[in-house]
Amino acid sequence: MVKCNFCNEEVERLEISHIIPKFIYKWLKDTSTIKRMRSSVNPNKPAQDGYKIPFLCKKCESNFSQYEKYFSENIFKPFIDSNDITIFKNIDFAKINKFISSLIWRVAKYSINNPELNGNYKKDEIKLFNTYTNDIQENYNLNTKINFNTYFIPLTEEFAKKNIFQNIDFVYFERSIAMDFIIFDNYNGVASVIIKFPFMLIVCEYISSRHQEWQGFKINEGKFEYSKEYKIPQYINYFIEFDKNRHYSIMEDLPKHQLDDIIKKAKDMKETDGTYKAKLKNYNHGIFL
Ligand SMILES: [Zn+2]
Repeated sequence: MVKCNFCNEEVERLEISHIIPKFIYKWLKDTSTIKRMRSSVNPNKPAQDGYKIPFLCKKCESNFSQYEKYFSENIFKPFIDSNDITIFKNIDFAKINKFISSLIWRVAKYSINNPELNGNYKKDEIKLFNTYTNDIQENYNLNTKINFNTYFIPLTEEFAKKNIFQNIDFVYFERSIAMDFIIFDNYNGVASVIIKFPFMLIVCEYISSRHQEWQGFKINEGKFEYSKEYKIPQYINYFIEFDKNRHYSIMEDLPKHQLDDIIKKAKDMKETDGTYKAKLKNYNHGIFL
């Protein structure tokens, strides 16, 4: 018998769960001419539909999936089509809250306790952050608001023009997936769960930045916080730079024959291809990589 990571119930076997929901990988694959993906967790292992591990019982898995579906249909897909943040105005935010809390819980639980990923955390840090992750779980179960500052940052042309990002690269913005728990020692010890989806970044601060460096983007108050001017803290720009390099280094780590294969297929890229569209945006913004 094994214990479900979420409800602690003993079950025969755990479901093979996606930490990052499957619909994110599916969208990336559906909008790609090259039907092939790699995972940043293990770059040498092709991850056709995302990184999966035995994690949840069947009941929890299906419980989470209804909110994944709601987020996918009411935020993710409409936002990618329109890039319009007003989509947050006419939705059931209680359901979005369920999705966001389940997502942060999964990423935090997995990242903080996986010895391959958490090499530098101290024992007491792991203990503390696990209690915070339990708080998120309670928010999910009781339908209460997340007590940690949580933000939704659109990675779109509109926000690129607002000069809030130091690094603009639409291939990274629109075509990469990542998850992380990072303690920014050089940045007042801020600790954040960070989830990178195509076109968006979701950040949950377990330890918040001391100064008022955010303006807008907040989503843990039952609404999206609109603002006349938007601002992100410098550590988010550090993360974008780091994660962008990681995104590209996965490609560079490929064995040469696989790379040749990808380049060959890339020549056949269609105008409907997501990477083609993102590269065109880079070109139009004078970004050459
Ligand atoms: Zn369970």
